[in-house]
Amino acid sequence: MIRSSMVAAFVASLTLSTGVLAGGGHGAHWGYEGPEGPEHWAELSKEYATCGTGTRQSPIDIPAAISAKLPVIKFDFEHATLEILNNGHTIQVNHDEDSSITVSGEQFDLLQFHFHTPSENTVGGKHHDMELHMVHKSAKGQLAVVGVFMEAGKKNEVLSNIWEHMPANAGDKKKVSSVRIHPADLLPADRSYSRFNGSLTTPPCSEGVKWFVMTNPIEVSAEQVKRFAKAISENNRPTQPLNGRFVLTEP
Ligand SMILES: [Zn+2]
Repeated sequence: MIRSSMVAAFVASLTLSTGVLAGGGHGAHWGYEGPEGPEHWAELSKEYATCGTGTRQSPIDIPAAISAKLPVIKFDFEHATLEILNNGHTIQVNHDEDSSITVSGEQFDLLQFHFHTPSENTVGGKHHDMELHMVHKSAKGQLAVVGVFMEAGKKNEVLSNIWEHMPANAGDKKKVSSVRIHPADLLPADRSYSRFNGSLTTPPCSEGVKWFVMTNPIEVSAEQVKRFAKAISENNRPTQPLNGRFVLTEP
């Protein structure tokens, strides 16, 4: 059963995937190196101005943070048929089932998840091999991203399922009815996290995004990291100044 709010969320996810993440369609073209690289995003289009003028930008280097008792994130995720796209900037899996997180009584519906290599957020200046971003939106339009670091180690079976259907060319999208993905399978068992306010990490770099970055990484194989890097290349925006923002981390 698909609620009407989920239909709205799915439409929003399409907007996110074609507008925000792909930078295609009506948005100016952007990339990760050269004249279209992150240091030039703000110059590429008026719509991307926040990439240059924003003061609460993502990603960040997560510092030795202030220990705080943070609210538990309640994950209510469901299996969904794999819908996967290569938007030229990342590999994205759209999610149109009734999945959500709830934090302090506020519910955010899962729209899509996608990947970066190396990680965008760093910890004490160090990158992990990859980072997964689960993008959520509340009924009020508030965005919340759950970040999960991925570290080379054991092969990840869920990721194998996804990578097997990775579209080779930018702009390709497919639905694989034989594959069902449960996004919770990509979460670490221990769900302590760091909390800060930030932005989208791709143009237009809109602020007001709630970030929840899991402290513990999940494992993927070195081959799985390589496979992604070969398809997409490095797609991490450099870390941005904190400008006095607090980062709270569970002890
Ligand atoms: Zn991302």
